[in-house]
Amino acid sequence: MSRASVDRIGPEPGGGVDADLAAIDISGTLQKQAWDDDVLPPVESLGSGLWSVPVPMPQSSLRYVLVYLLERDDGVTMIDAGWDTEDAWAALNAGLGKAGYEIGDVKSVLVTHIHPDHYGLAGRVRENSGATIALHPADADILPQRYMQMDSLLTRMRGHLLESGVPVGSLDEMRGASMPVRGFVNAVLPDVLLEDGDRPDVPGWNLRAVWTPGHSPGHLCFYDTERKVLLSGDHVLPRITPNISYHPQQTVNPLADFLEALDKVAALDVDEVMPAHEYRFRGLAQRIVQLRDHHEQRLSEITVALREHPGQTAWEIAIGLTWSRPWSEISFWMQRSALGETLAHLIVLESRATVRRGTGIPQRWELIGA
Ligand SMILES: [Zn+2]
Ligand SMILES: [Zn+2]
Repeated sequence: MSRASVDRIGPEPGGGVDADLAAIDISGTLQKQAWDDDVLPPVESLGSGLWSVPVPMPQSSLRYVLVYLLERDDGVTMIDAGWDTEDAWAALNAGLGKAGYEIGDVKSVLVTHIHPDHYGLAGRVRENSGATIALHPADADILPQRYMQMDSLLTRMRGHLLESGVPVGSLDEMRGASMPVRGFVNAVLPDVLLEDGDRPDVPGWNLRAVWTPGHSPGHLCFYDTERKVLLSGDHVLPRITPNISYHPQQTVNPLADFLEALDKVAALDVDEVMPAHEYRFRGLAQRIVQLRDHHEQRLSEITVALREHPGQTAWEIAIGLTWSRPWSEISFWMQRSALGETLAHLIVLESRATVRRGTGIPQRWELIGA
């Protein structure tokens, strides 16, 4: 089986995994060691009432999601929840225990975005604790179609894939490629909606919600203004670039949104970044430079591809780009993710008036002025 991720990464494209980690300072040294040893990192107290709890992920190259516990006088607030599996539930409860709490002490779950590894367990936590679940409205809006009544989304996905140039024979398999992960989500609606700049009610903390669309339309980071930590979800990770894909549940230009949202967090005074995967680190500004460079390189690569072969579909362009392994070895799910990334880049080039798309189906792309 390929190392398919069910959450974010494109198929680890050429620049998707950044080898140059020198520019950032990995503060999660035990996490990094565990990563290198291919074991789950420990539950850690990070000081000033913050805990990091790795919750394992099934069948994923990401291995685990880092759930954060924020101590408060009357219990604990969680950032993200993990998948809805028994292993994840056990790890979450064990982590709470290590921090001196039990599930009934959880007062709120602030969820960075609705992907299964972040949202999946939130409902079960609420059932067992009475905690509230908070989410950005843009992710709350797409939740019913994504996890509850999926038929119309599947229909739209099929049309989208056809328009993008996916061969007719692969359409049905590819449109349902994400359905297996549906089982890892307890699909519930949130209790609280958090907009950009909102301050969730977490006694003892000065948290601010920072809306960072791109990876997901309603992605939120959480910034503590006194501790100067950024709980970055999947928006900024130390090693991999988050998957920024265009698809039927995305914004019009998700990569442009993502790049703008990088500026938003770059403007914060951040001492340490607490990501949802991999390991915590210092050096947010440097990491943002790396992420921007990656996307500019990708934009150049696509421009060159269209110069050499005008009139390609997004699917054909995706197949021709550099990925970490041969296209034929990439799973349907990851191929769809790669197509989404390619489209996200094409849409940025279109918004810069560098490329245009044809009107037929499938859509064919060409350079403007070529
Ligand atoms: Zn995600
Ligand atoms: Zn994730």
